[in-house]
Amino acid sequence: MAKRHRKQKQKRQFAVIGLGRFGGSVCRELHSMGHEVMAIDMNREKVEEYRPFSTHAMQADSTDERSLHSIGIRNFEHVVVAIGDNIQASILTTLVLKDEGVPHVWAKAQNHYHQKVLDKIGADVVVHPEFDMGKRIAHNIVSDKVIDFIDLSDDYSMIELRATSAVDGETLNTLHLRADYGITLIAIKDGQHMNVSPGPDEPIREGNILLVIGHNNDLERFEEKVL
Ligand code: ATP
Repeated sequence: MAKRHRKQKQKRQFAVIGLGRFGGSVCRELHSMGHEVMAIDMNREKVEEYRPFSTHAMQADSTDERSLHSIGIRNFEHVVVAIGDNIQASILTTLVLKDEGVPHVWAKAQNHYHQKVLDKIGADVVVHPEFDMGKRIAHNIVSDKVIDFIDLSDDYSMIELRATSAVDGETLNTLHLRADYGITLIAIKDGQHMNVSPGPDEPIREGNILLVIGHNNDLERFEEKVL
């Protein structure tokens, strides 16, 4: 019988370039999760500030190809480009990283045009934190049932909704979510307990958090008519 090898949880190697509020928070979090993270900034004070929250901290100008090459940046699996104000530096850095063969380059965009350019030159993931957070907060403000909102594409989202008394005791079977609304209930959260892929007859209780995925129009319809 073939022996099954237990997959060891691997430590992954990350680098964060630009230690402003965004890059700094990514760096701290990766470090606190036990990953190896190299913190890079051209500003020496920033480098010193993040030394305790990184595996290595290094002062370097990331637009300088040779300095990224000599650090061995190609050996990092994920590199986060968190340079904001200097759009030119952010673009150049992303280009150098893709040229060096870094498999996953995540770049922070400052505005829509910056986002488009980063996409074009091969950034693997482009994030626009202020814009994304603004959208999420707008959804929270509009409806007190929407707890969180994640854009999956222009038309599809994943949202967390608070179950009201209107659905207390209802189940997937009685709600006809797929048939009537074309949406999918991924999980029911009850306090700290998370019921992923709930069965057709598992009851929803008032106050539960429903994690639902679907087309924005269908989600809105469900929220308005049912909850
Ligand atoms: P925040 O995340 O705080 O909103 P921001 O978008 O305003 O940041 P900046 O403050 O412009 O971004 O840049 C973040 C960091 O990136 C700064 O600490 C800056 O020193 C660093 N940085 C800018 N250009 C480079 C570069 N070429 N090489 C390395 N670090 C750089």
